[in-house]
Formats: sequence, structure tokens, C-alpha cells
Amino acid sequence: MSASLFHHALIGAMPYLPRSLIWRVSRRYIAGTHLHDACRRVQELNESKCTATIDVLGEDSTSEEQVRAAVETYLTAIRDIDTHSLDCGVSVKLSELGLRFDVAGCKEAIHALVTCAADHGSFLRIDMEDSSVTTVTLEIYRELRQQFDNVGIVIQSCLRRSEQDVAELLHEGPTNVRICKGIYVEPKDIAFTDADEIRSSFNNLLEQLLDGGATRVGIATHDPALVAYAEDMIEKMGVDKDRYEFQMLLGVAGTLRRKLVAKGHPLRVYVPFGELWYAYSMRRLRENPNIVGHIVGNLFSRS
Ligand SMILES: Cc1cc2nc3c(=O)[nH]c(=O)nc-3n(C[C@H](O)[C@H](O)[C@H](O)COP(=O)(O)OP(=O)(O)OC[C@H]3O[C@@H](n4cnc5c(N)ncnc54)[C@H](O)[C@@H]3O)c2cc1C
Repeated sequence: MSASLFHHALIGAMPYLPRSLIWRVSRRYIAGTHLHDACRRVQELNESKCTATIDVLGEDSTSEEQVRAAVETYLTAIRDIDTHSLDCGVSVKLSELGLRFDVAGCKEAIHALVTCAADHGSFLRIDMEDSSVTTVTLEIYRELRQQFDNVGIVIQSCLRRSEQDVAELLHEGPTNVRICKGIYVEPKDIAFTDADEIRSSFNNLLEQLLDGGATRVGIATHDPALVAYAEDMIEKMGVDKDRYEFQMLLGVAGTLRRKLVAKGHPLRVYVPFGELWYAYSMRRLRENPNIVGHIVGNLFSRS
């Protein structure tokens, strides 16, 4: 059996593996189950010259109760970040705030969080989810940014619409955008599926944003080719350090991260925490089949 077939077979088997085993593999990506775990990790990152963004794990809430719980956790996180003087913002998925079953309620919830973040001098980034909610997510961001300047959005380079979305956002006024490849599997008619096309779209969007006057651009990737291209562009365009930052996920590409920090680039690490670590871990593992090999290693290790 080829390595790739083997990985696919293993991915299929993952739901049947013990949670304790999945935890052993995935704990590098997750700060822990509690807010104090995340704050401790952010403190360490701040000490190593990285900023951070805290993500309360969860998506696709299906009840008001779940939404209330998520809002409470985020409010506590924003206050604790301030209390502990951490250099850290928060990242929020609108589906966690009920986007899929109550748009009005979701708008109220995100408004409360952005208000709290503004009161505490903090920044809130709305993560981008799958293409079924791109339009409504952008619409909610647009409404918020009329009132707040501490809110940002995400654009995915795999989507064909992104160039147009960026053009419109830039035309409408100041905008703070994270660009990433996009984690969701999307149909071919609306998304690039070829790796080189996605990379090329990423580079074009980065140029469009930096050239078009975006207030700040988060360059969210661990892809060495994209990082090198971005470094080049930043240097050639003479982009100030307060207009861009590299962004990486906790536990991924540590060597590249340290290199960028040593060169003096601003770098933010995405720090997820929460009881719902299992679903997040399964997604990360599916995303990068290479790590699946670690599961096999862990099956036979004692640590
Ligand atoms: C800070 C941040 C925020 C993000 N926010 C969003 C969002 O809001 N919406 C969205 O759709 N997507 C989001 N993503 C995910 C993103 O879209 C990609 O799916 C993910 O970053 C992998 O793409 P890559 O650019 O790193 O390139 P890839 O080609 O996937 O990865 C490059 C290299 O990085 C390493 N690597 C990448 N991912 C992992 C991993 N999980 N574990 C271990 N090694 C890995 C591997 O060595 C790989 O070869 C975010 C990513 C980051 C870093």
C-alpha cells in the first residue's frame, strides 16, 4: 500500500481511535482546555517576541445556550487578556455565535464581543468559514467596521471571488485583513483546487492589499514559498512593520516562525483552547496527512 493510501486509510480510522491517543498527537496544536492554559501559552509567546490571538474552540453552535456559553467565554478571555497585560487579540467564528440558525442573534453576539474588545483596547478577528457563509460573514464585518476600528476579517486565496471581495473592501474604507489559503474543501466552480493556483492567488491578494492601502495585513501561512515571496514583497515595497504581520498556528512550523522573528518581522500565533479540542484536532490531522504518521508513532510510544 502506498504511503498516501495508508494515510487515507488511517484518516478514515481516526474516529475509532481512542481520544487519549488523539490528544497525545494534537496537544501541540492546542493550549489546553481552560482559559488559564491559553493565557499561560500567550505569556510564553509574548516573552519570545510573538503576539497572539486566542481562539475559543467551537463552531456550528446549534442552540442559544451554546452561543451564550461561547460569548461568556470570549468576554472572560478579553477581560483576562487585559488584566494580565498580554499582547493578544481574539479570533471568533460566527457559526459559533449562531450564524447558521439565528443571524440577528449572531450579529448581537459579535457586536457585544467587539464592544468589549474595544473597551479593553483589544482586537477581534472574524475567522472565515466555508463558502456558504462568505457573503453574510463579509456583510457582518462591513456593518461592524462602520462603528469600530478594532475588528478584522479573513480572505481565503482558494476562492475565486476573493480578488473582487478585496477590491470592494479596499474601496469602501480602512480594512484589516488576514489572508490564508482556506481550510475548507470547496467546489471547483468557485474555488481554485490546484496548489500552485492557490499560491499564486495568495501572492496576488497580498500585493493587492499592501498596494491598495489595507491598514494591516495578516499573512497566515506556513508555506515557505509564500513566506519567502511575502518577505520579498515587503522589502521591495518598503512596507512598515505596523502594516503587516506573519501569522501561524500554535505548534506548526516552529523553526520558520523563529527565523522570521529573528529577522524582526512581526509574528502572531493563533492559540486555540477549550473543551472542544477533539473536533479541532481531527480537522488539523485531516488537513495535514503527514502528521497522521505521528499517530502510528504514538501507538507504539510510551510518552
Ligand atoms: C493564523 C492562521 C489563521 C487561519 N485562519 C483561517 C480562517 O479563518 N479560515 C480558513 O479557512 N483557514 C484559516 N487558516 C488555515 C489556512 O487556510 C490553511 O489551511 C493552513 O494554514 C495551511 O496552509 P499553509 O498556507 O500553511 O500551507 P500548506 O501547504 O498547507 O502548509 C505548508 C507547510 O506547513 C506545515 N503545516 C501546515 N499546516 C500544518 C498543520 N496543521 N500541522 C502541521 N504542519 C502543518 C507543513 O509542513 C506544510 O508542508 C488559518 C491559518 C493560520 C496560520
